[in-house]
Amino acid sequence: MSAFCGPAKPTVCGFDCVAEGEKYDYHQEIARSRYGDMLYDQDRNKKYYQGIREAVAHVQAQGEKVIVLDIGTGTGLLSMMAVTAGANFCYAVEVFKPMADAAKRIVEKNGFSDKIKIINKHSTDVSVGPGEDMEMKANLLITELFDTELIGEGALPTYEHAHRHLVQEGCVAVPHKATVYAQLVDSQLLCSWAQLQPIELQGTQLLPPPAMSNCSGTHSVCDIQLSQISPLSFIPLSPVCTMFSVDFSKPVRSAPQSYSSQFVAQSRSQAQVVLSWWDLEMDPSGTIVCTMAPSWTYPDPTMAPWRDHWMQSVYFLPARCTIDKGEDLSLTVSHDDYSLWFSLKSHSQKHLQGNMILSRPFCTCQAHLVWDRPRFGELNDKVRTESYVNALRSVLKEDSVCLGVSDGSLLPVFAHIMGAKKVFSLENFSMMKQLIEQVLDANSLRGRVDLLNIRPEQLTSKDLGGEQISLLIGEPYFSTSLLPWHSLFFWYCRTALAGLLRPDATILPCSATLHMVAVEFQDLWRIRAMCGTCEGFDVTPMEEMVQKSLDFQESREAEPHPLWEYPCHALTKSAAVMAFDFTQCVPQQPLISQGSLPFIRSGHCHGVAVWLEFHLTPDVSVSVGLTKPINDQGLCEWNRHSKQGVYFFRSGRETSGNDRAAVFYNIVFEPTSGNIQMDFDIKSH
Ligand code: SAH
Repeated sequence: MSAFCGPAKPTVCGFDCVAEGEKYDYHQEIARSRYGDMLYDQDRNKKYYQGIREAVAHVQAQGEKVIVLDIGTGTGLLSMMAVTAGANFCYAVEVFKPMADAAKRIVEKNGFSDKIKIINKHSTDVSVGPGEDMEMKANLLITELFDTELIGEGALPTYEHAHRHLVQEGCVAVPHKATVYAQLVDSQLLCSWAQLQPIELQGTQLLPPPAMSNCSGTHSVCDIQLSQISPLSFIPLSPVCTMFSVDFSKPVRSAPQSYSSQFVAQSRSQAQVVLSWWDLEMDPSGTIVCTMAPSWTYPDPTMAPWRDHWMQSVYFLPARCTIDKGEDLSLTVSHDDYSLWFSLKSHSQKHLQGNMILSRPFCTCQAHLVWDRPRFGELNDKVRTESYVNALRSVLKEDSVCLGVSDGSLLPVFAHIMGAKKVFSLENFSMMKQLIEQVLDANSLRGRVDLLNIRPEQLTSKDLGGEQISLLIGEPYFSTSLLPWHSLFFWYCRTALAGLLRPDATILPCSATLHMVAVEFQDLWRIRAMCGTCEGFDVTPMEEMVQKSLDFQESREAEPHPLWEYPCHALTKSAAVMAFDFTQCVPQQPLISQGSLPFIRSGHCHGVAVWLEFHLTPDVSVSVGLTKPINDQGLCEWNRHSKQGVYFFRSGRETSGNDRAAVFYNIVFEPTSGNIQMDFDIKSH
């Protein structure tokens, strides 16, 4: 079954994304779009259809012709629903050309071309009047312009404009209303994504720079499958608060606004994390509701619909603060035209973050600009840190001369604290270098790690003051890595640095292994599933377009997914399928690995998960994939701060687990390009 190749090709001097280009971007955009997931979201589709039927009937009951404006028509789905429900005419506006073209084909295939006009424009460019894009203003406004944060795709300015220019006064809207909810919680896991925390090391504490601790972070939303965070793993500090609603049938304002909700603190705790989601009421009476509430808010969590195009959001308050049980608090949400942010205020004299309310948070410490949320989690992960400390302890000597190769890495700082004679660190990005300088300053270690803004192949013995490197260290972490194996860039750096290493130099990690396991996904398979028809409408032209983009050679690659958010069940054992020996330079010849993993459990094999393990020393390893052995039922536990590679089979296969079928693999690491090509196939023995 088809092959895929890694898109980013490490070369000696960096990543060389040969496939980047317009054509690649175009296919990527289509292949990775969430249209398939939306079409598979039956809860959403059915509720839209119900809401549209009611709205059409309502306008008809007023004795009017039903003229629809569908902004962001995508496949044309909601317009086709409207016409089927009895609408007289639909203006279906879609800004993305490939989608507008697909919508035309879909509308034609379903026989609606005379009732639906596809307008390939941004709605704010649409003109109204005789002979214009729209002959007249609409009296039914239908849209689905929402993202996980509700307004992040520009719903507010789009509605504001539509009410002013494209729809009649008193128009009906589907959805009728959106409401945003929030809950203040104390979650250790999520808190570790907010800021760098002090790190215990050899009896001392490595402190984060004050600028970092006082930084309110970025305003960018952290979207997450919140149902995968067990409610047992966090402490609720507030009830679920209703923060604000937007009525889409009335003129909408996109100007910045704030809304507060009062509550009594449920627990004495540290407050910093706000969980948030929204719902859509499709009809004015609020009986048709499509909610993004996480599964643990349902009496029966299995009743929660699954979707990936809308998840839930995590927001971080500008600072962590202690709150008392019983304290009167008010949680405030503010928004501008594209984003939301939260702040917390105490009703007592103790103002927590009162003056922050209207100003959008922005990063003043740089860390939030260069480290993403999971990277904070990784740096704050005590178990991971302990692995590095144990590994360093076992290889460090008093006369060690260390060179660190990673981006924005604390590992060289650890090496210094743990007693290395001299430590250098290659920090290729100036912002990362400045960040590590801040950490050194905050711990009175300025100058103790020599931070060099030099590429590995340009480094000379002079830059190292004539020293030879006895210990080369890497997490390895590179900010440009999208898929786990992109970190093999470390191997190329090690090769470029060979001439500067002592003959007996230690390399940490000494090796890496590529691992795979074939899996059945509980839900993630839906993002690649083809449904053919959606609510009775033939949407195959869109699916064919997506398939064509997936087939476009450079797009046929593994996709990065944080698998801890997407439960799956192992159908084979997990296995190391290729090893990379960092004690040696990158070889001249390709590495080839072929074999098969028999199915040992029953299920539907949707794909293969692939990741790397780094062997820091022969005894200490860190995994960016599975963090525990797979249990008897096939349950997989994944690293919560990393993404794994997922290869989807186009049509998967049912297995009984003892039907002599297996996943065959053929993996080729091509050293000159740095490409890893993988072929997976399901066959019977
Ligand atoms: N209505 C479809 C697709 C929703 S996805 C459905 O419900 O299945 C949202 C679509 O809106 C995207 O295709 C995006 O390109 C388009 N879009 C977003 N804002 C727009 C705007 N202001 N004008 C035109 N198209 C817009």
